[in-house]
Amino acid sequence: MSGVYEPPLPSMPGAAIPDISRSYELECPRCATPVLVTQVQGDRCPGCNFEFTVFEPGQDLVAGAFYDVLTGDKYVQELPDGGKVVVHG
Ligand SMILES: [Zn+2]
Repeated sequence: MSGVYEPPLPSMPGAAIPDISRSYELECPRCATPVLVTQVQGDRCPGCNFEFTVFEPGQDLVAGAFYDVLTGDKYVQELPDGGKVVVHG
């Protein structure tokens, strides 16, 4: 993979999404494939190609708003540090 692909987030004025400073080892809630998430968005499950979007602790409202506008299959995974990952197609 080369270059930086940043799919557009739904418009959320004032909801700046910071870079994450650590990576998360997760199990895909859709297909149970281990996934290493290192970016706020853009990491995809190698098993089902669903995309992982990370929300830091305290961003519950942002995560909820993001989740609400998604269509199709979507999942929320809690992170050990209190953040959330939204997994979506
Ligand atoms: Zn998957």
